[in-house]
Amino acid sequence: MAKKDAKSTKKAKATKAEKPRDEIQETPREAAAEAPKEATKTASDEPKIGVYICHCGTNIAGTVDVEAVAKYAAGLENVAVSKDYKFMCSDPGQELIKEDIKKNGINRVVVASCSPKMHEPTFRRATAEAGVNQYLLEMANIREHVSWVHEDKDIATEKAKALVNAAVRRVYYHEPLETKQVPVKSATLVVGGGIAGIQAAIEIADSGNKVYLVEREPSIGGHMMQLDKTFPTLDCSACILTPKMSTAGSHPNIELMTYSEVKDVDGYVGNFSVKVKKKPRYVDFDKCTGCGICQEKCPFKAPNNYDEGLGERKVIYTPFAQSVPNVPVIDAELCTYIQNGKCGACAKFCEVGAIDFEQKEEIVEVEVGNIIITTGYDQFDASPMYQYGYGRLDDVVNGLEFERMISSTGPTAGRIVKKDGTEPKKVGIIHCVGSRDINYNEYCSRVCCMYSIKFGHFLREHLPGVEVYNFYIDLRCFGKGYEEFYNRALEDGTIFIRGKVGEVTNVAENDEEKGKLVVQVEDTLINMQRRIPLDMVILGTGLEPRKDAAEVANKFLVSRSKEGFFLEKHPKLDPIATATDGVLIAGCCQGPKDIPDTVAQASAAAARALAIVTRGTVEMEAISAVIDEDKCSGCQVCVTLCPYKAVSFDEERKVSSVNQALCKGCGTCVAACPSAAVTGRHFTLQQIMAEIEGVLV
Ligand SMILES: Cc1cc2nc3c(=O)[nH]c(=O)nc-3n(C[C@H](O)[C@H](O)[C@H](O)COP(=O)(O)OP(=O)(O)OC[C@H]3O[C@@H](n4cnc5c(N)ncnc54)[C@H](O)[C@@H]3O)c2cc1C
Repeated sequence: MAKKDAKSTKKAKATKAEKPRDEIQETPREAAAEAPKEATKTASDEPKIGVYICHCGTNIAGTVDVEAVAKYAAGLENVAVSKDYKFMCSDPGQELIKEDIKKNGINRVVVASCSPKMHEPTFRRATAEAGVNQYLLEMANIREHVSWVHEDKDIATEKAKALVNAAVRRVYYHEPLETKQVPVKSATLVVGGGIAGIQAAIEIADSGNKVYLVEREPSIGGHMMQLDKTFPTLDCSACILTPKMSTAGSHPNIELMTYSEVKDVDGYVGNFSVKVKKKPRYVDFDKCTGCGICQEKCPFKAPNNYDEGLGERKVIYTPFAQSVPNVPVIDAELCTYIQNGKCGACAKFCEVGAIDFEQKEEIVEVEVGNIIITTGYDQFDASPMYQYGYGRLDDVVNGLEFERMISSTGPTAGRIVKKDGTEPKKVGIIHCVGSRDINYNEYCSRVCCMYSIKFGHFLREHLPGVEVYNFYIDLRCFGKGYEEFYNRALEDGTIFIRGKVGEVTNVAENDEEKGKLVVQVEDTLINMQRRIPLDMVILGTGLEPRKDAAEVANKFLVSRSKEGFFLEKHPKLDPIATATDGVLIAGCCQGPKDIPDTVAQASAAAARALAIVTRGTVEMEAISAVIDEDKCSGCQVCVTLCPYKAVSFDEERKVSSVNQALCKGCGTCVAACPSAAVTGRHFTLQQIMAEIEGVLV
């Protein structure tokens, strides 16, 4: 492709051709360049490129002289038509492209607009609908890469021209590619049995499709099961959750795999093969009647995780009374029979002979079309925040500990008591502990303001006459009914003090403070430092990614945000998909959220999975790597580096090959191959070099 002198194009006459519509700016070929084009340009087998410059309202046009870019493009080699338009992604915008393809014989398309992440599918579709292969399209990102990052219009315009030139040169070498349709397995794997996982599983199962619900704890339920009542409606958490848990437990289309974890995932959208590790419960599922005698007779105790370690459970235990499944599990590390053959009381007293010390770990393989990850969150550990005294001072508790304390099924049977057994008369609740704090987590955890206000309500309900102080930075009552809930708390007499707490101490400065926890805070509404003596302090601890989030992300090939939560494909337009097709996310594993948002996201993920299952097939992206076997030296660098496990090595023929269904076309193997045996379809050396040359002209 002959290089064009950019300067000569700049000098092109500004004569405008007639505009098909008011907003459409068309720069005819001949108006842009004074010199006549080469004869080869119009030959029917030659690329005939249409260039379309989007204004994106004023998003691009405010900073880039779009008309000048269109005029410049019209003068580029092989460009037959160049137009600018207010919104290329709109229907009339797409029609422009289609019309030119049909009427003017355009056979390659360049759209200069926003990021291809946003609208490449839109323009590919438009191109294909008009009869041109969708891969004969190239986009130049003149919004994110130009207008949004430059202020100087001249500089921005010149850069936009360079990017358009690069795209024109690149698209010249594009080749038509064909996508493939592959059949989809109808079952779905849901990983994590909190409210998100339960909701998604039930919705899919109700549609008549099979679900494997994998939960690593002995029971499903997640954190919601630990809550007493839920804001803002104050409905009892267990009362609304347990019916869903038992539906999930007894649904004919749900195979519950509790006390289990995913070990390995292979395959691609529509065709995943998953190995699930089932830990031994040492209790026979089929024989156990759930009578509880084994737990009664077990002589050994351990801290109860479900009660946040505030209470105790037996070594053979069900986490809580409404556990699903209602079959106990033996904590092998603490069981004296499993460790050294002594005791065995559970087995002696079990009338149906359900205790089975011979059980071993099992690996079960399941075939699924989609995977929904719903592994939830961990509560922020406040102990590193020395100033708040958590773990160091008595009667400083975190959010979930307080939830368990006020629950009638909790370790104190719903009594709010200090460590010495007395009831507190003055309680402080500190907001934003571990959230909105650049030393820990910069983000807002979105539920702590509301649950802190809820705690005020519980305190007054359980302890009439108690004084409740909420120490807040800002109050974020953003949900339906949330502001009203806050107003009720104000009317009920909760005291709100705006200021970040500096310290919680038990060092008294006067008689009033003796034996108390003292909160030192700057009250920013009255501009005063205050010391407030209290009997109990509750920390509004935030939500964090699970500690093993990185491991889980690697297993399922999903990315993580800088905070560590699983990263959605697009924060606005695709908040449930991930970069790996067929792997969806929902609930707090994607980011902190309340129960209504968790449930909504889980239902959305279920609907997305079902859409794929119902369609029956999925289209595989044609951009992928191909290996030239003649050049392959068999070094296997590609096999080791491929992040999608798409490259395998044929031991007999001593060459690597790419599974086209797994390959995402990321190009890692292309760049790494020392023999240059791998080519990236749609990213050939010729295409990339043409693009680089284009941008450097
Ligand atoms: C103190 C406190 C009070 C709250 N009060 C309210 C309230 O009143 N109202 C409200 O709307 N929201 C409230 N919330 C928020 C609420 O807890 C969450 O919105 C909800 O629990 C999120 O559900 P989830 O299913 O996404 O996650 P989780 O509840 O965390 O469930 C995740 C599940 O996945 C399992 N899991 C984790 N990793 C794996 C793995 N690798 N393999 C298999 N299983 C795995 C876990 O064991 C768990 O069962 C509160 C939060 C806190 C901290």
